[in-house]
Amino acid sequence: MREAVLDADARAVWASLGRSGVLSRDRPAEVLRSLLPSLDAQYSLGIVLSVCVQIATALPILRSHGPSGVVGRVSAEAARGEVVLALAATDAGAAGSDLMDLTTSARLSEDRVVVDGGKRWITNAVTADCALVLARHRPQRHFTSFLWVLVPLDAPGVTRESAGSLFSGAGVGHLTFSGVSVGRDHVVGAPGRGLAMFARHVATERLAGALWASALCRRVLADTRRVLAARPLGSGVAWDNAVVRDRFARGLVEARRVEALCSSFREGELVDSMVVKVAVAESVDRVLAVCAELLGAESFADGGVAGLRAEAAMFGVAGGASGALLAGVADHADYLLGGAR
Ligand SMILES: Cc1cc2nc3c(=O)[nH]c(=O)nc-3n(C[C@H](O)[C@H](O)[C@H](O)COP(=O)(O)OP(=O)(O)OC[C@H]3O[C@@H](n4cnc5c(N)ncnc54)[C@H](O)[C@@H]3O)c2cc1C
Repeated sequence: MREAVLDADARAVWASLGRSGVLSRDRPAEVLRSLLPSLDAQYSLGIVLSVCVQIATALPILRSHGPSGVVGRVSAEAARGEVVLALAATDAGAAGSDLMDLTTSARLSEDRVVVDGGKRWITNAVTADCALVLARHRPQRHFTSFLWVLVPLDAPGVTRESAGSLFSGAGVGHLTFSGVSVGRDHVVGAPGRGLAMFARHVATERLAGALWASALCRRVLADTRRVLAARPLGSGVAWDNAVVRDRFARGLVEARRVEALCSSFREGELVDSMVVKVAVAESVDRVLAVCAELLGAESFADGGVAGLRAEAAMFGVAGGASGALLAGVADHADYLLGGAR
C-alpha cells in the first residue's frame, strides 16, 4: 500500500494540506507533531522533506512579515497550498555552515531589489513557485547585514538545476540569480533582520526533523519486526533467535532515545536544537543500520531500507551539518552543564 503513494507529487500533497486548513494554523511545531507520523507513513522521504521545510521554516518566516503587500498575499496563497515555497539559505559562495560569509547580494534602491549570486542544495528548488532568498544587503561581516527577499522563480535572470536523483519528490537543486530585479515590496520583514529571523525559526525545523525521525524509526522497526516474525530460520522464525532479538532491541533503544529527545525539546531553544539534531542524526543511522542488517538482501530492493538509510543521512546535514553543530554545542558547554564544573 505504501508503494502506491510513494509516487505522489509533492505539489499535490501540499495543495491537499492547504485545502484541509492545516497550513493556516499558527503553531508549526504542533502542526508538525500531529502531521509527521501520517506523512511519513504515506509518502517518500523526499515528499516529506518538501512539506517539512515549508511548514517549519518558509511559511513562518513569510507569516512573520504580516498580511500586507505582495509578501502577505504570497503567504496566504502558500497557506492555502496554492503556492510552493523554497527556503534558500545555503550559498554557492560559502560553506553552508557559515552563513555570515554568504555572497549572494541584494542591492536595495528606493523601489527595487536586485539579487545576484546562487544557492545550492535547496529543497523544492526545481519545483517551487517562489524562493525566500537569504542575501547580503551590506558588505560588513555582521549579523545585521542580511535580509530575506521573496523571489518568484519564473523571474528573468533565475536559473535552476536539479541536484540529482536522490530525495525523489523534494525537487532538491541549485538556483542562480543574475541581476534578478523585483519590487522593494518583496523584502520580507526589515532589512538587517535576516539572520535573526532565521535563528528564530531554525529551531522549529530541527524539532520537525526530530519528530519526523522518531516516526520514521518507529515505522521501519515495526516493518522489520513483522518480517522477522514471519521469516523462517532454523526450526522457527528469525525473531526467535537471541542474536537477532538483541540487535533489534538495540535499534529500539535508539528509537526511544529519539522519542525522549523530542519530548524534552524546549521550543525556540537554539542550543537545545543543536544537541537534539546531532543526537537524532546518529540514532536514525543506527536504527536504519540495524534494520538493513537484519533484513539482509531485501533491504537493497527499490524503496528498501538501505536506500532509505542513504537518504536519511541528510538528517546530519540539511539544516545544519553535525560537525558545525558540535562546534556550537562545545561553545555552550557551561550553559549545558548548568554551571557544573
Ligand atoms: C537533502 C538536503 C536538503 C537541503 N535543503 C536545504 C534547503 O531547503 N535550504 C537550504 O538553505 N539548504 C538546504 N540544504 C543544505 C544544507 O543546509 C547544507 O548542506 C548544510 O548547512 C551544510 O552545508 P555544506 O553542505 O556546505 O557543508 P559545510 O558547511 O561545508 O560542512 C562540511 C563539513 O564540515 C564540517 N564543518 C563545517 N563547519 C564546521 C565547524 N565550524 N566546526 C567543525 N566542523 C565544521 C561539517 O560538519 C561537515 O562535516 C539541504 C541539504 C540536503 C543534503
